[in-house]
Formats: sequence, C-alpha cells, structure tokens
Amino acid sequence: MTDTTAQPAEPARVRVHGLEKSFGDQHVLRGIDFEARRGTSTVLLGPSGSGKTTVLRSLNVLETPEAGVIGIDDVEIDFARLPAGKAGRKESARLRAQSGMVFQAHNLFPHRTVLENVVEGPVVAQRRPREEAVADARTLLDQVGLGDRADAYPFQLSGGQQQRVGIARALALKPRAVLFDEPTSALDPELVGEVLAVIKDLAAEGWTMVIVTHEIRFAQQVADQVLFLDGGVIVEQGTSAQVIGDPQQDRTRRFLSRIR
Ligand code: ADP
Repeated sequence: MTDTTAQPAEPARVRVHGLEKSFGDQHVLRGIDFEARRGTSTVLLGPSGSGKTTVLRSLNVLETPEAGVIGIDDVEIDFARLPAGKAGRKESARLRAQSGMVFQAHNLFPHRTVLENVVEGPVVAQRRPREEAVADARTLLDQVGLGDRADAYPFQLSGGQQQRVGIARALALKPRAVLFDEPTSALDPELVGEVLAVIKDLAAEGWTMVIVTHEIRFAQQVADQVLFLDGGVIVEQGTSAQVIGDPQQDRTRRFLSRIR
C-alpha cells in the first residue's frame, strides 16, 4: 500500500506565557497563558474582537506582542527582551518557521497551477530541491483529496477545494505546528464540511494544531483543549467536554447559547 499521508516531521509543544498586546491605546491581549501538548489540537473560542486572531498571529509572529513568551519546541522568544532591528527580525523568523498558518482566505497565486502553488514555498523560501518539493506536494494534495487536480488553476476549483490547497501549501513548509484562522468562515455552508474533514484527519495524524473557529460541533470533535477568550483574557479552559459541554463561567455560557 502506498503511504499517501504526510506525517508531521515531529509535532511540537507550544507554550504561551504572559502575552500582552496593544494596538494603539486598545489593550487587546491581557496576559494569555496556555500550553498545547505535542500532537494535540487547541481550539480558541470567543466573541468577535476577543483577541483570538491576535493570539494566533502572535504565534506565527505576524504580530509582535509587547510582552510575554512564546515557545514552539526549543525556539522561544521573550518579547519584552526581543532586540530591535536585524537581530530581532532573525529571532522572529526562526520562531515563525516553526508554524504554518492557514488563513480565512487562501490567497493562492491565480496564474499558477495547484501544484505550483504548493511547490512555491519549499522551493523559493526554503530552497529545497524542486523534485523533492514536487513529490511532497503530490503527497500532500492526495492527502487533502486533490491529487487529481494538481494541474488545475485556482479559478477552476470550488472555495472548499481552494482552501484545501491552502492547507497543503501550509503543510508543504514542514511546520512543527499548524495554525488555522477561521479556515471555513469565508466558505459557502455546503463547502465547510470537506475542509473540516481534512483538519480532522490532520488531528488524527498527530499534528499539533491551534484553531480559531466558530464551528462548535467541529470544535467538540477535534479539540483536545478548548480556550474561551473574552476581552483579551482566557476566561475558561479545559477539555471540550468541560468548556463546551459544561461551561462554568457566565460569559462562556452566554457565548455558547448565542452561537448554538
Ligand atoms: P477575534 O479574532 O477574537 O475576533 P482579534 O484578535 O481579531 O479578535 O481582534 C481583537 C481586537 O484587536 C479587535 O478590537 C480588533 O479590532 C483589534 N485589532 C486587531 N488587529 C488590529 C490591527 N492590526 N490594528 C488595530 N486593531 C486591531
């Protein structure tokens, strides 16, 4: 039997401590602490504006917190001590390379085939041999159920298929952890399931994942850990049975009753 799964190189442990972030005078993250064990899925839930995306973007160092520590395996930044200039950018790039990000919208290159979209990062950014990158990309496309669409162009695919290419493209960089920012929120409802199914497969394969989503049923199925955020703090955290099935805080209960 051919192995068509791309196992994570080695899933990472993620540590976040004391994360603080402001935009101007708006204090958006007010001391975020959590840990994600190797090979587990952490789902961030919470009302719009609670800081979920900012946490995720900080993990990928697309935002620079003012204070706090983020560690993905042995690469760690204490943001209060991040040097300015080139040295700081180098440290940020090292941490950024530990994780792969899947955005709401896939941003595929429109004039390149599906395969070329997946191969681009490894070849250009990581200078990996093209042949090896192509072989890996084909494996990844099989894994997301698009092995037969390698030569198609993005406009020939549905939104759900495009988003699955976006997932393959993030995995092609061989990240140690995968971050999903509302990966289905831009999709028509009938296309949501196929994308969530791919993410569930990745969870079963043992990737370390941090996921922002409003899909409660999916969260219940996939999450080893749920963090409920409100106003830039983690109000409640635990297993999905605890946080979603039996919330202890009023704010969590109110949020869940609104979106159910
Ligand atoms: P969520 O993902 O929970 O909806 P976000 O992390 O996107 O929340 O945003 C938290 C708060 O930070 C919001 O009030 C948002 O307007 C603000 N914010 C996020 N990114 C920026 C930015 N780049 N500049 C200014 N304000 C921002």
